[in-house]
Amino acid sequence: MPVKNMTKKQIQTFFERLREQRPNPETELNYSSPFELLIAVMLSAQATDVSVNKATDKLYPIANTAQAIFNLGVDGLKTYIKTIGLYNSKAENVIKTCGILLELHQGQVPETRQALEALPGVGRKTANVVLNTAFGQPAMAVDTHIFRVGNRTGLAVGKNVLEVEHRLVKVIPKEFILDAHHWLILHGRYCCIARKPKCNECIVSDVCNWPERFEFGAAKAIPIKNLT
Ligand code: SF4
Repeated sequence: MPVKNMTKKQIQTFFERLREQRPNPETELNYSSPFELLIAVMLSAQATDVSVNKATDKLYPIANTAQAIFNLGVDGLKTYIKTIGLYNSKAENVIKTCGILLELHQGQVPETRQALEALPGVGRKTANVVLNTAFGQPAMAVDTHIFRVGNRTGLAVGKNVLEVEHRLVKVIPKEFILDAHHWLILHGRYCCIARKPKCNECIVSDVCNWPERFEFGAAKAIPIKNLT
């Protein structure tokens, strides 16, 4: 059965609840500047946040600017990040990116999608995280969790990541757009998980449109009025 799109009212309630649950959501990557965030996100592709934090906890006290990391060189950087998957290509990309930041952006992280996506190793997803988290822009990085939650609940149905991204940016009320990314990831990671979603303990089960939610324990009759 195809999932129905959520109504405006459902979406409003959905995010009010997620906000109530986590009033100050933050990315689980450690960072203290846009530059540190950019590098952490680049390192996090196909790796866990925990493994990235372990590496950057050692790296950033030694080098946390474009110039300092550039000075380490590819081999120097590898000694800090070799516990992270794909570290060879990541080291190359990070050093090239630092070189471009120094050459074109006075060592700073640019605030536009175009300039971010021009950096080696920075795709749309990384650019979205940086624009949203470091610069407070209403961008939406769609990862596997957000893609699943959007499609499953009827919040943002789409065949691919880009469709879901566009739909999310369109339907999420302005008041939630800056934090929505984190709320959705955390909801997908800890509650609306891939195999056995915890619909029985889900705080938004009454506004979720997933037809199978009752089989996973969602309460049947929570009366939320006027949800059409
Ligand atoms: S009710 Fe189930 S499917 Fe719907 S959002 Fe909650 S965990 Fe996900």
